[in-house]
Amino acid sequence: MHEVIVVGAGPAGSVAAAALARAGRDVVLLDRAQFPRDKICGDGVPHEVISTLRSMGLGPKIDAAGFYPVRNLRLVSPNGSTFDARLKQSPDGVSESSVVPRLKFDAVLWEHACASGVRFDVAQVTAPLLENGQVVGVRLRQNGSGERELRAPLVIAADGSTSTLARALVPKRPDDMHRAVALRAYVEGLDLNEHMVEFYLYREILPGYSWIFPTEGGLANVGTGMRLDTFRKVKGDLRRLLDQFLAMPAIAARAHHAHVRSVETWQLNLGSQPFSRVAPGALLIGDAGWFIDPITGGGINNGIITARLAVETAIEALTERDFSARFLARYDERWRRRLWPGLRASAYLQRLLMLSPRLVDVGLKRLARWQWGIEPFLNKM
Ligand SMILES: Cc1cc2nc3c(=O)[nH]c(=O)nc-3n(C[C@H](O)[C@H](O)[C@H](O)COP(=O)(O)OP(=O)(O)OC[C@H]3O[C@@H](n4cnc5c(N)ncnc54)[C@H](O)[C@@H]3O)c2cc1C
Repeated sequence: MHEVIVVGAGPAGSVAAAALARAGRDVVLLDRAQFPRDKICGDGVPHEVISTLRSMGLGPKIDAAGFYPVRNLRLVSPNGSTFDARLKQSPDGVSESSVVPRLKFDAVLWEHACASGVRFDVAQVTAPLLENGQVVGVRLRQNGSGERELRAPLVIAADGSTSTLARALVPKRPDDMHRAVALRAYVEGLDLNEHMVEFYLYREILPGYSWIFPTEGGLANVGTGMRLDTFRKVKGDLRRLLDQFLAMPAIAARAHHAHVRSVETWQLNLGSQPFSRVAPGALLIGDAGWFIDPITGGGINNGIITARLAVETAIEALTERDFSARFLARYDERWRRRLWPGLRASAYLQRLLMLSPRLVDVGLKRLARWQWGIEPFLNKM
């Protein structure tokens, strides 16, 4: 029997598992995919994440992998007005926000977990293992074989936005206004503004947006995301929305025999509700715990922050041998203190953006003049 099972080896799960192993804990990390694996994402990695990874000793790996730095941000409002700003860097000036295909980014974190002494297994987790309402492990399938049990007193669910564990453990699911859907494509042959991330807000998709994020080799990650309730109301079709975005005069003028590939869609669990992310014997982190920023759609940073907060709680629980929901509620206290003020502010702003595209035009004009209110967002990308 292991001390902790971490399910999902994305950024949240790999960081949690590595930290537990480095603290001398017996941890097994499970993922249904073999690594390296792709993850549908805009690939935008905020500078805070880069700083955290450097503080974990991953500086040489980051430098060797050659993350593509981004230094400027452009917001385009529904009437076409543009607001440009310089992105923040870490206070020491070393860590810059970056655009890194997740195939590469997640592999760095997964390798770090394996090098930290984590045991990694490819396995599809099918359900939590429950005894008298307490999670005591997971049920899983490996290599097409039958279902079996794996036991541990603590399970950390990091299995992303379609989390099997969260579905079983969170009784009331947030409704469609707390979810989003997004499409990501890689595009070659687009004139890119080097080292600049571009966000386009327009009538059809508010409070969502389309983006162009340049990355290495002249490639761009291009996509479109919408809140799920709005998407359903307008009977949206993300592929059609992407085509419409690429056909906008301002974008089409930059496309020369553009080649669009790897078009995929995925869902986002927005952190716009402060419900408990704890069950007896289990902690929910990253997308499995609904921590995506409701305005930017970014979830890598909050995934890593929640991983670290969950590890603090896990080590205390292992020391005290107490895995009750009451004890583990320390994790709820920690993430609410650290993340909820920012998530709540983003949720309000997101609802404001829905009121009218005209409001977005006026707001961006003010922003351009006074730079008011943009500070926290420059830090999120
Ligand atoms: C289109 C799109 C664009 C985005 N753009 C950005 C962006 O630019 N910047 C940003 O910060 N965030 C972005 N996000 C959000 C970001 O992708 C997520 O917040 C982030 O990946 C969360 O990391 P995680 O470790 O919680 O989950 P994931 O990265 O999703 O990892 C979950 C892991 O669990 C595994 N898994 C799932 N189910 C099981 C199971 N039953 N058994 C075993 N393993 C399982 C999966 O294989 C996967 O490896 C975007 C999301 C989308 C959909």
